[in-house]
Amino acid sequence: MIYPIRLYGDPVLRSKSRAITDLTAPIQVPGFKPVLLERLAENMFDSMFEARGVGLAAPQIGLPIRMFVMAEYEDEEEEETHEGKKKPLRSRVKAQHVFINPRITPLAKKKDRSYTEGCLSIPGVYEEGVPRWRELNIQYHDLNGVEHSEDVEDYLARVMQHEYDHLEGKLFLDHLPPDILDEYRKDLAAMHRKARAYLKFLKERGE
Ligand SMILES: [Zn+2]
Repeated sequence: MIYPIRLYGDPVLRSKSRAITDLTAPIQVPGFKPVLLERLAENMFDSMFEARGVGLAAPQIGLPIRMFVMAEYEDEEEEETHEGKKKPLRSRVKAQHVFINPRITPLAKKKDRSYTEGCLSIPGVYEEGVPRWRELNIQYHDLNGVEHSEDVEDYLARVMQHEYDHLEGKLFLDHLPPDILDEYRKDLAAMHRKARAYLKFLKERGE
């Protein structure tokens, strides 16, 4: 199942997500059909691949719970040069991961600002200059409740920090100087209106 991705301006993107205490119980959130974690993760991957993303956090589909999914892909460049004909993203997946109740600890003081970042909830906005730890340790549970601790760096570390921010109600734009936001003022206002219209639609549908 593909979930609609919540847009900039939706309050769920600004809420601090709560921990998942029982990994075997269906996720119950008002306005959301109860769903088991395993199915939820599958749906989040479907939604992420459909939107051609590298990561997706639960708040981005309207669920303020501490979980995100992420994929590693092969041959990144090919997609750009393929004359508009994009291969199904799923065929390029090298690995996919589910992070439940993640905790992040930086392993070195050094921050890196050189990547261009974007967000499925803020379509069309890509900016470099977001400071992220270059190396970090992430502790999390997988879908089976097994606890993991992994050290990662560079690109993966960046994606994880971006997704982790979503669980704290933060967006990558928050890390950028306000004059950059001014450039996108109109686009952001349009997203805000769209986000509100979607919430109104959900309310009218009784969800
Ligand atoms: Zn994002």
